[in-house]
Amino acid sequence: MAITIRPLSDEQRKPIPQELGFGGVFSDHMFTQEYRDGAWHDATIGAYGPFTIDPSCAVLHYAQEIFEGLKAYRRPDGNINLFRPWDNAKRFTRSALRMAMAPVDEDMFLESIRELIKLDHRWVPSEAGASYYIRPSLIATQNALGVMPSNRYLHFLIGGPVGPYFKGGFNPVGVYISDTYRRAVKGGVGDAKTGGNYAASLFVGQEASDKGYSQVLWLDAIEGRYVEEVGAMNIMFVYGNKIITPKLTGSILPGITRYSVIELAADLGYDISEQQIDVNDVLADIQSGAITEVFGCGTAAVIAPVGKFGMGDQEYLINNNQTGPVAERIYKELTGIQYGHIEDRFGWTETIEVS
Ligand SMILES: *Cc1c(COP(=O)(O)O)cnc(C)c1O
Repeated sequence: MAITIRPLSDEQRKPIPQELGFGGVFSDHMFTQEYRDGAWHDATIGAYGPFTIDPSCAVLHYAQEIFEGLKAYRRPDGNINLFRPWDNAKRFTRSALRMAMAPVDEDMFLESIRELIKLDHRWVPSEAGASYYIRPSLIATQNALGVMPSNRYLHFLIGGPVGPYFKGGFNPVGVYISDTYRRAVKGGVGDAKTGGNYAASLFVGQEASDKGYSQVLWLDAIEGRYVEEVGAMNIMFVYGNKIITPKLTGSILPGITRYSVIELAADLGYDISEQQIDVNDVLADIQSGAITEVFGCGTAAVIAPVGKFGMGDQEYLINNNQTGPVAERIYKELTGIQYGHIEDRFGWTETIEVS
């Protein structure tokens, strides 16, 4: 498994911006490989830059594409941690198969990430809460308008530094519950990480944003009653020492942060379970105070406390719109493991030596 590496010269490398946002700045290099004639070819890391694609390129028309998202974290010793990247590799394979795409060899998926990080390690920030976001993608590149699985694919990998998700501290977000629109249905592609799921969510996201909420909570598409997930996060409800999260139904994206929180929470002594969760119970339990906290979990924010839900014209405040102790504790533990501040007792991290 050979990756050809074409590093830029020192003069060709870009200055690193001081102010970090999310997803607008990319490091010097990118990885690409191409699938054609039934095999993967030309695995290369070279300069970050635009592709030339034909207007008839399949992905532009029928959205045959998938992606992943993970982060590299700067450790106190200067080396860099990846967090469960092999689980992203497995999910990339599952998403590819669901979208009838040629899967990428999981070792190559991992190796491309390691090599890109090694080459662009100066882009991995050391500021608290900042990290380097890694975006692997797979797109259909056959030039043909017929509706069929492509016979050519491009696997590419880009990344760049991202600032702390929570700028003004670890503050709760407001989440709007969509009672009209649905994200995914069992049997559909809700459990594959494919761009179309996001394209379909933007309209409702805008509606939520107009009402002053930053995220959307999706309900199941059949009864419009069971809680599924929030935007690009899975969701957890805290009842004192008990935590519940929707069980995977086929229409929920199986988040790696979700699996990690489930394992970590059990290890910390919380009683955690995966179950079907009725939104009516959730709203009643918020009003009675039985639900003490709600938080989302996903790679971007890691943990995002939810301070309020909105549904129709009603607003439901959780823990008085304050971050609670359970979200805080899980956030500290999980980010502690990711950044190498505390010992990784789960074997979740892989360290890339760069210092
Ligand atoms: C990526 C994603 C998540 C979170 O998954 P992580 O592996 O924890 O980052 C949750 N929901 C959706 C729809 C996603 O695309």
